[in-house]
Amino acid sequence: MTIPYFHHETRETLKQKASQGFVAVIPLAATEQHGPHLPVYTDTLICDHIAANACVKASTSVNLLVAPTLTIGCSQHHLSYGGTLSFSSSTYLHMLQEIGESLIAGGFRRILFLNGHGGNEPLMHQAAQDLAVNHKIWTASASYWSLCRAELTDLQASEMGMVPGHAGGFETSLIAALAPQLVRWDQIRDSHPKREWINAGPPGTFVGRHGLLTGDDGYTDTALTADAAKGELYLQAMIDAAARWLVQVCQWMNTEEEFER
Ligand SMILES: [Zn+2]
Repeated sequence: MTIPYFHHETRETLKQKASQGFVAVIPLAATEQHGPHLPVYTDTLICDHIAANACVKASTSVNLLVAPTLTIGCSQHHLSYGGTLSFSSSTYLHMLQEIGESLIAGGFRRILFLNGHGGNEPLMHQAAQDLAVNHKIWTASASYWSLCRAELTDLQASEMGMVPGHAGGFETSLIAALAPQLVRWDQIRDSHPKREWINAGPPGTFVGRHGLLTGDDGYTDTALTADAAKGELYLQAMIDAAARWLVQVCQWMNTEEEFER
């Protein structure tokens, strides 16, 4: 299994692949507090794993390269808990735009963001839009959990907790599968209720409440029922869904038509 890493290429091979229409995939993750029991690198471990494996699968059908995962994101709403490295929203937006422009300077015309942290999502979509407005290129962007709703429903993942939630049963199951030595099982409390109301409100409405954007204790639901075997099933379903999405979007972005205006 060879992961088609952008950063394993040389400037010469990258120039060649850019001219051949290869799609540059940029995984977006975070380093932020994940409750008392999960490592602060949780989103990066998950996103890196999904992006690398999905790109391996997709690369049998489409030409793509996966760039280094951005391990720090926009996590301002976690700073008060400690254990968080974060860019402000304006800095993060500029950073994504400038990474895109670096790829454009290197000849790439198809840029795709694959995200693994909620706080990055609106800024990622904005950066993808700005890049396509300002340059004659294709862009696309999505968060991994939005690509696999049906598969996770089939696996009844919501019984584990909020999907994806934050440091609850779902994410803890994923880390239990990926890096079990990093789960502090003795730190999981049994009294944490589900916080289904987080970000809930009238349809289409964002509801912000100071100090409660990630739940009372900085996580969304209890991880008591977390399970490594189920985490492995979720991961595989998410990799398969992300790979299908990559193929679909890369083929769509590869339709040869002239850019107007
Ligand atoms: Zn997370």
